[in-house]
Parts: sequence; C-alpha cells; structure tokens
Amino acid sequence: MPAVTRWNPEQSRIGIVGAGPAGLAAARALLRAGYRHVTVFEAGPDPGGKCETGVFAGRAYDLGAVCIFEGYTRTLALAQEVELSLKEAPTYLRPEGGGRELPLPPTGAVKAWAEQVLQKVPALFEGPFESFEDVVRLGLHEPYGAWAQRLGLEPIPALSLYFYQSTGYGYRTQRVPAIYFLRAQFTCTGRVWVAKAGYQELWRRQAQRLVQAGLQLRTRTPVTRVVPGPPLWVETAAAPPVEVDALIWTGGPKEALAALPLTPEQAQALGNLGYIDYRTWVIEGEGLAEAPGRIVMVERNNRPEHLGHVALYAQPHADRPLALAWQYTTSDDDLAHERVALADAQALGAEDPDIRLRRRWSHFFPHFSPEAFERGEPVALERSQGTGNIFFAGATLAMELVESAVVHAEGVVARHFSP
Ligand SMILES: Cc1cc2nc3c(=O)[nH]c(=O)nc-3n(C[C@H](O)[C@H](O)[C@H](O)COP(=O)(O)OP(=O)(O)OC[C@H]3O[C@@H](n4cnc5c(N)ncnc54)[C@H](O)[C@@H]3O)c2cc1C
Repeated sequence: MPAVTRWNPEQSRIGIVGAGPAGLAAARALLRAGYRHVTVFEAGPDPGGKCETGVFAGRAYDLGAVCIFEGYTRTLALAQEVELSLKEAPTYLRPEGGGRELPLPPTGAVKAWAEQVLQKVPALFEGPFESFEDVVRLGLHEPYGAWAQRLGLEPIPALSLYFYQSTGYGYRTQRVPAIYFLRAQFTCTGRVWVAKAGYQELWRRQAQRLVQAGLQLRTRTPVTRVVPGPPLWVETAAAPPVEVDALIWTGGPKEALAALPLTPEQAQALGNLGYIDYRTWVIEGEGLAEAPGRIVMVERNNRPEHLGHVALYAQPHADRPLALAWQYTTSDDDLAHERVALADAQALGAEDPDIRLRRRWSHFFPHFSPEAFERGEPVALERSQGTGNIFFAGATLAMELVESAVVHAEGVVARHFSP
C-alpha cells in the first residue's frame, strides 16, 4: 500500500535534481499522477545523465550506457513511447582462443547457475529489492566470492565475474557485495539492443514529451544548495532560487553531500560510498577488433593485475574501424591512460590507432561496502526518505543500471507521492 501522501497534485511544487533516467522517470510518473508543478534542474546542457552520446564524423557513439537488455521492461516501454529505433546487438566475442569466436556469456551455464541461486535464495525473484534490510537478511551484503562460497556456489564467480568485471562491476570483488552482481546478472540477460541514434536520444525525446505535458525543464542549471524549509529553497548556479515543497534528488552522491541539508546518518551513508573510475574511448584503427556491432572482451586484461588496461570493445558501425573501448583507471593522468588504451588497441591488431572521443566517469557505480551494510548505512538512507521533504532516487539506491534507476524512481513516486 502506498503511504498516504501529504502532497496535493494541483498545488504542490515538486523539484527534481537531474535529468538522467531516474529524474525523467520520476518526472513522468509525477505528471501521470496529475502533478501540475514539476521542475527538473539539470546541470548539463542536455538530458540523459550517464546515457551520454557523442558524435564523430556524423555518427553516434555511446560514451556512457549502451545496452538495453531484454529484461529492461520499463526502459523498452519508454523507448517505444517515443518511437526510438533500436538495433539488436549480435553476440559477444572473445578474441582469444586461437582466433576462434567464443560466444559470451555462456547462456546455458548462466541459466543453470541462476536456477541454483534461486534454489538457495528464493526471495531473489519474489520481488524487486526495494529494501536494503532484505539484502542484509539474505546475507547478500557479503562480498560476492564469500557469498558464493558460503552457499556452495563457488564455480559461479569464475563463470560470471568475467562478464561483470569487463562491464563495470569489477576488480573489487573483495569489496563489492553480492547483491550488486546478482542484481546486474538477473537484469542484464537475454537479447541486447542498442539505440541507433544513441542512448541519450531516448531521454532527449522523453524530456521533450514531458515538457509538452507541462514539465519545467531547466538545463545548464546545477543545484548548488538547498536551504531547508518548508518550503525548500533550491539555489542554482544559473538563476534566482526556486521555492519547492518537496525535492527528489537523483544527482550524484558527491553533489548531494555538497548541496543538501543532510542528517548525520545520511551524510555518513553518502560519505562512505565506493566508486569505480571508468573511461570510455572511441578509438580508430584499421583492424581494431573487427567485430562490427559486437561486444568484444579481452580475457587477458580482465584480471586485477591488468587494472588500467582495456578489457572491453564494441564496434558500433560496420563501415568504419572505430571502436568504443572501456577502461577502469586508477589516477587522474589522462595522457598515461590514453597511451595504455592505444597500446592495447595495437595489441589487438589495430594499425596506427588514434583517439577520436573520450569521456571519464570518475564516480561511476556508487556502492555501499559490505561493512557499510553491516553498519546499516543503506537501510538508514532508505528509511530517511522524505526527511525535510527530500527524497532520494537514482543510481545510489537503485544500483547503477538504467532499468533499475527507472524502476526505483517510479517506485519512489508511487510510494511517496500517490494522490
Ligand atoms: C561507461 C558507462 C557504461 C554504462 N553502461 C550501461 C549499460 O550498458 N546498461 C545500463 O543499464 N547501464 C549502464 N550504465 C549505467 C547507467 O548509465 C546509469 O546507471 C544510469 O544513467 C543512472 O541513471 P540516474 O538517473 O540515476 O543517474 P545519471 O544518469 O547519472 O543522471 C544524473 C543527472 O543528474 C545531474 N546532476 C548531478 N548533480 C546535479 C546537480 N547538483 N544539479 C543539477 N543536476 C545534477 C547530472 O548532470 C545527470 O544528468 C553505464 C554507465 C557508464 C558510465
């Protein structure tokens, strides 16, 4: 049952910080619930958040999120609503193995694994993880390897970590709780689509549609401070302060720490988060990957000792040898990382490679550590929803995937703003 709301859709002014998937999903849900005064504040020039698309030589390259999986029911529905053209991404490849194409992930093995997990932790499929209490109760806050060992599922990490380490959830397997892997593993399954015009186009079109339905969207408007209320005063770097009755924060945790009037528990939970430093490159070089449309994993680089090397490539367009390359990095030395990325491309067969586009995500994948779970920090943050009329949606509580950001944001609106 949704909580009885203290808001009046006709009169209450709701502010949303961030025009990424979570912020726009929340805005859409509020408008559909009849709210008439909804304002989204976005720091960047365009909606999309970490679904950011760059353009080189007239072609779209996703510099943030790329994949829309079969299980992305809500994201696919939002894409359909705005008539976004999708194309299916063919199978994964590993270039090792004597030049043979090895499909990844091994679907049958992953399915069998999922069934084993289900037998051991039936609650995993009983509903979305809306409560971090469930995570602790089920022991899913333990590091992935330790968790698998405790349940007698040891072969699993070897099978599945390869994929998740390559795609942004890894190298910290001793520190990242099992729930993050499981959440990703059960969400990112089945067929994969990519947006022909890039992921960001989905959110541009959604934003346009919402503006037509009455949303106030303020881009290039970073929220710098929120003065406690009621009402709350939203201070921005771009315009005079704006008065709102409630605020839904979907911006980054670092920015929240700087801007929001937080309780000590909230500040502790947000202050102790871990992150992954992640870079995307668009590299051009004849011979690079030679796998148009496919995602290529480089097994030798998918090891903790190879941190900083490129473990994953995708060549989005068949007619030009330009590949997206993803790299976990460890320092601010852009040039050094660029050199490694180019050397890796050469090692993969690229002749004279060159960087065409670059993007660093220094605070990707905000996550609670196993110890933070034990101290109850995620639960405290979740329970604090609505304190001072401020709510949290977005990657931190939703665990950094487009689909979960959307589902979680819609859930926050359903639970706290239903008329
Ligand atoms: C390289 C990379 C690859 C990825 N691949 C995939 C993938 O294939 N599939 C997948 O599902 N997910 C993927 N992700 C993750 C996915 O992009 C994110 O989980 C998702 O975008 C989170 O949505 P969000 O709305 O919570 O946050 P964000 O997308 O981060 O949006 C937050 C928005 O808030 C704005 N903001 C922040 N602070 C302020 C402020 N103070 N004032 C105003 N605005 C502010 C930001 O500018 C941003 O637009 C990937 C991410 C990266 C970086």
